[in-house]
Amino acid sequence: MNQEELFKKLVSHCKEYGFVFQSSEIYDGLSAVYDYGQYGVELKNNIKKYWWDSMVLLHENVVGIDSAIFMHPTIWKASGHVDAFNDPLIDNRDSKKRYRADVLIEDELAKLEAKIEKEVEKARKRFGDTFDEALYRETNARVLEVRARYDALNQRFNQAMNDNDLAGLKQIILDQEIVCPVSGTRNWTDVRQFNLMFATEMGSTADGALKVFLRPETAQGIFVNYLNVQKSGRMKIPFGIAQIGKAFRNEIVARQFIFRMREFEQMEMQFFVKPGEELKWFEYWKDIRIRWHRQMGFNPGDYRFHDHEKLAHYANAATDIEYRFPFGFKEVEGIHSRTDFDLARHQEFSGRKIQYFDPETNESYIPYVVETSIGVDRTFLQVLSASLHEEEAPTADGGVDLRTVLKLPPALAPVKLAVFPLVKKDGLPEIARQIINDLKFDFYCQYDEKDSIGKRYRRHDAIGTPYCVTVDHQTVSDETVTIRNRDTMVQDRVPIAQLKEIVGQKVSLRSLLGDAIKSE
Ligand code: ATP
Repeated sequence: MNQEELFKKLVSHCKEYGFVFQSSEIYDGLSAVYDYGQYGVELKNNIKKYWWDSMVLLHENVVGIDSAIFMHPTIWKASGHVDAFNDPLIDNRDSKKRYRADVLIEDELAKLEAKIEKEVEKARKRFGDTFDEALYRETNARVLEVRARYDALNQRFNQAMNDNDLAGLKQIILDQEIVCPVSGTRNWTDVRQFNLMFATEMGSTADGALKVFLRPETAQGIFVNYLNVQKSGRMKIPFGIAQIGKAFRNEIVARQFIFRMREFEQMEMQFFVKPGEELKWFEYWKDIRIRWHRQMGFNPGDYRFHDHEKLAHYANAATDIEYRFPFGFKEVEGIHSRTDFDLARHQEFSGRKIQYFDPETNESYIPYVVETSIGVDRTFLQVLSASLHEEEAPTADGGVDLRTVLKLPPALAPVKLAVFPLVKKDGLPEIARQIINDLKFDFYCQYDEKDSIGKRYRRHDAIGTPYCVTVDHQTVSDETVTIRNRDTMVQDRVPIAQLKEIVGQKVSLRSLLGDAIKSE
């Protein structure tokens, strides 16, 4: 499968097997809004638990909260979202399609990067074992020429974004001769700013109603509760507050499935530190967070850091953790050193003193903040992209056929154990049900008696169930069953009494959390 086919297959797999559905599908859908189905919700909950436990359970000085989605509108004035949470948009007059100007230019940069990679791959094939990739990248005239074009464009782009120079962005689009992918023309409007926040009204009468926003990030709910948590929890700096919750953005470009949604979920943690120590903690959390990703066991080469050249007005360091999706390397998580911007602004706008009294030095200060911010849905897409495989598998009659298998980390799999009676009689279904009744308090088990055993295996491969157990006639006499491993397809005969331990060890979150976190 090439990457485009893989992505198409992933989207249809999500629908066919109850992971993700288009929202309001029977009414022809709602753009960039999705629902999670019966297996999707399990996977999503497991991802959230993996994050929550890694942050809150494993760090003594991190606690969680759950703040409301509606907040006082002044919060969004203070945070800068009312005035500056904008995307630069541009329309094509012929197709009437709307694009993000920055995304059009980023796509152009990605094309140049892809050109370089193609040259390198061609050379690798040509030179074979003697190929010196680093030397080739440094000296090949064609690579150097494309690299110079990339650097020049990137610099111009960053400059325009930093200066908020909308005319400059349009000029780049014209100079690069970027065409609309739908109409194929260069008939562009000017670039305009577009605020991404959804607004609604709170209150019963139209005159008395208050205009409120659906939160575009969960972070502000943490900042405005800083004092509450610090005081009620008697927290000492450095400490963190974590939160998982919905966020809403009226995204202009809605594409790439659940990568860019209008309603999505975030897992954010704000870590409050002494001013001057923020860059040390920034490095600390970068390291913790990349290990959390890598611990899931996918290809380590598919992750990278992308340091921001264009820093938001409040940040003094920022990086993204990017994953190689089927449509290229894209951000899954942001790690930002946000200085004291947010707390200072809330102090100013609320009129309340938001400070920390340091008992060791006897001084008060506004803490600095290091934030880790990751999207649940993007992580879900990342996990599915990495897990979905199509491979040859032997059939019962000695042939081979293609199987689709989701090689999810067992701790994240929706169903941990499937139990099948070989036939629907001779007391086998009753034994199978008994096994489930014993184990269902420990992990999610499913019973399945329809179709051949081979077909039942395939159904569970497709949703990523790590273990399938078959109850056969031998079980009746010796209380053993066969247990089949999803990835190796090897079957072992084991006593029923050992199932809890065998499966339990593999599917426990402990297997993921073990190394992901440094002990403090
Ligand atoms: P992008 O540049 O892709 O729009 P961003 O830099 O605006 O993302 P942040 O504001 O840093 O994103 O949000 C933190 C995380 O929230 C992102 O890394 C991503 O995982 C998630 N996220 C942001 N916007 C969306 C969205 N529209 N749909 C799904 N997840 C999102």
